[in-house]
Amino acid sequence: MSQRAVTRQTFDEVMVPMFAPAAFVPVRGAGSRVWDQDGREYVDFAAGIAVNGLGHAHPDLVAALHEQAQKLWHISNAFTNEPVLRLAQQLVDATFADRVFVCNSGSEANEAALKLARKYARDHFSPEKHEIVAFSNAFHGRTLFAVSVGGQPKYSADFGPLPGGIHHAPYNDLAAAEALISDKTCAVMVEPVQGEGGVIPAAPGFLEGLRALCDKHNALLVFDEVQTGVGRTGALYAYMNHNVTPDIMTSAKALGGGFPVGAMLTTDKVAASFSVGSHGTTYGGNPLAAAVAGRALEIINTPEVLGGVKWRHQLFIEGLNAINRRHGIFSAIRGSGLLIGCELHSDYAGRAKDFSRAGEAEGLISLIAGPNVVRFAPALNIPEADVTEGLARFERAVARVVKG
Ligand code: PMP
Repeated sequence: MSQRAVTRQTFDEVMVPMFAPAAFVPVRGAGSRVWDQDGREYVDFAAGIAVNGLGHAHPDLVAALHEQAQKLWHISNAFTNEPVLRLAQQLVDATFADRVFVCNSGSEANEAALKLARKYARDHFSPEKHEIVAFSNAFHGRTLFAVSVGGQPKYSADFGPLPGGIHHAPYNDLAAAEALISDKTCAVMVEPVQGEGGVIPAAPGFLEGLRALCDKHNALLVFDEVQTGVGRTGALYAYMNHNVTPDIMTSAKALGGGFPVGAMLTTDKVAASFSVGSHGTTYGGNPLAAAVAGRALEIINTPEVLGGVKWRHQLFIEGLNAINRRHGIFSAIRGSGLLIGCELHSDYAGRAKDFSRAGEAEGLISLIAGPNVVRFAPALNIPEADVTEGLARFERAVARVVKG
């Protein structure tokens, strides 16, 4: 049987219409360049939404995958496997954590973190200590618990009844958080930089303040580092940029180097509240995914890659400021490392998507973070020439939108 050709049109015909993908279908990537079905080439300033930390088809990751593919693809968590044990050991060696649970996505990692926090509070205190404090505009994923703790009602409003006992304070407002955190709080969940919510870094002292409030009320501090982790901000994890350590941290996206991998990291004491049967997943820590993740982590957790984030950040900020001087479209350019957000001037309110779409027409893949922020999250090793070329394409896209 010959296979029918698939095109962008096929998406409209057979996929559940939950996404609005670009007009082209990517078929190949190398480093920070991507090609579509028609052979058109794009500079990639999105890296699969901060996933391909080392770009596309990194030779060492291809080799790790190839090597593992010849040995063992899947064995389930009824057993364990060498790649996942190595990955967990690497994570423990590199972070505050003593224990790791490996899963398949950011949502799953957060689901595990939230369940663990409730179980821990029940074990050590009482079932009444089940409340969770989180933040407006936060994004923690799409499972029911994750949309409930997330602070964007558009993602949860149609799916009630939601889990209860969840409160939201404005991000970076420590006094508002303090008013919500009590002895009934089991966990405070926060992104060190809000990603989907508009690329908003934690204000100085905010995370440290939450740490103190959690200590005062015996609540666990949970950092969602799904977007900020694995080098994105120039530190291996963003908490390392601050004088603060979480009790639980979640990681995904760049952790798998492009494979679906998530992880929840925690201390011995907190981990002890999960035992056999408490929680689980069939695929989590699959040997193929774990082998690629382990190699990606090894490469990223080096001065060469992490240190390189700094000068690339500078290159982006200088280039974007120059574009803004010529076109006056942004009211703010902000971010941390290679997670950069450009807030549109009120004249362009709600039009982030137009800039991103215009970029595609010029051969640039970019992201948005809400209706008013154009977001860039390129590979951590993006070559200087690709940054320059991508920014030139972005400026042509800006000119298109400005001209109308
Ligand atoms: N947390 C954060 C901070 C995220 O940015 C995302 C994804 N954008 C998630 C959780 C959810 O991750 P996933 O899509 O892998 O479930």
